[in-house]
Amino acid sequence: MLEIRLTRTTTPKEKPQDESALGFGKIFTDHMFLADYTEGEGWHDARIVPYGPLSLSPAASVLHYGTEIFEGMKAYRTASGEIRLFRSMENIRRMNHSAERLCLPEVDEAFMLRALDMLVDLERDWVPHSVGTSLYIRPFMFGADPHLGVHAVHAATLCIICSPVGAYYAEGINPVKIAIEHEDVRAVRGGTGYAKCGGNYAASLRAGKRAEEKGYTQVLWLDGVERKYIEEVGSMNVMFKIAGKIVTPALTGSVLPGITRKSCIELLRSWGYEVEERLLSVGELIGAAEDRTLEEAWGTGTAAVVSPIGTLAYEGQEHTVGDGGIGAVTQKLYDTLTGIQWGTLPDTFGWCHTVEKPCD
Ligand SMILES: *Cc1c(COP(=O)(O)O)cnc(C)c1O
Repeated sequence: MLEIRLTRTTTPKEKPQDESALGFGKIFTDHMFLADYTEGEGWHDARIVPYGPLSLSPAASVLHYGTEIFEGMKAYRTASGEIRLFRSMENIRRMNHSAERLCLPEVDEAFMLRALDMLVDLERDWVPHSVGTSLYIRPFMFGADPHLGVHAVHAATLCIICSPVGAYYAEGINPVKIAIEHEDVRAVRGGTGYAKCGGNYAASLRAGKRAEEKGYTQVLWLDGVERKYIEEVGSMNVMFKIAGKIVTPALTGSVLPGITRKSCIELLRSWGYEVEERLLSVGELIGAAEDRTLEEAWGTGTAAVVSPIGTLAYEGQEHTVGDGGIGAVTQKLYDTLTGIQWGTLPDTFGWCHTVEKPCD
């Protein structure tokens, strides 16, 4: 396996004192992982180096044609001081699926896991201690070809950076107001919706900004062809409890296959709930809100884990979900997933992996 060279920083930064002020993605640790890919040669020069600016050609493919993919995962500190990752192999496999879609090179799974372990092990003192805090890990890859011709990349860079992040919900989980977007679309079938790529986000920002200006936290996306079927919400997958059953949009190609989504489905089924992965039209959803059979709605994603939706706005009208508060299933999913991640509940599914000291 490709060797990973380590160059330690000689000027370690001061760790944040006030863990309640961490926020999200504002502070970065002392080191980062880098590796380069060149066609013909494969991946080479894998290294962990002091965190700092990257150098790349102004003609680099990513700057012109958006050849970029990323992942998002967290390292958690348990009460006994162990550092754990949650379903990290799922992130690695998804990164390779994203890479395939954008003609970026794939990475050996075992090598990638080793890179993550080595970097997180080195930065373990950066994993914050307070309840609900974690170390957010952001692997990303981009096309680095220094040519303006439009073609699949011949050179790429893989990077992993880490950021201590605060508790997503400083004052307990709170229901949010979501606007159903009927103008802009995030992705279309056949496009890049199922890939975690920067371009999907670039296309989503305008609708997000407009919704925020009207007092909504995020946008709920409809499918790009008919603008009829529910897809996902902002950077989260979405689930509904309608007349006792759980309904979530099927993975039709334009929806991101979330690992939190997958984990919620597995938990829900283990608790005996019927979970339907299917097409759900906005008409059916609003109808369920109107006849009060829409009992709960929530988003799922690594950052927030589970985010209850209290209000849905569609075509200028607001609809309350359930009683507008946090539903019992939403709360149970949140408590169970966070319990498994932070080690206060048994990891019965074997989802967590303890970061050992592979460098020693
Ligand atoms: C990352 C992401 C999600 C959530 O995926 P997780 O693996 O649960 O973090 C959902 N939707 C979009 C668009 C995303 O980028």
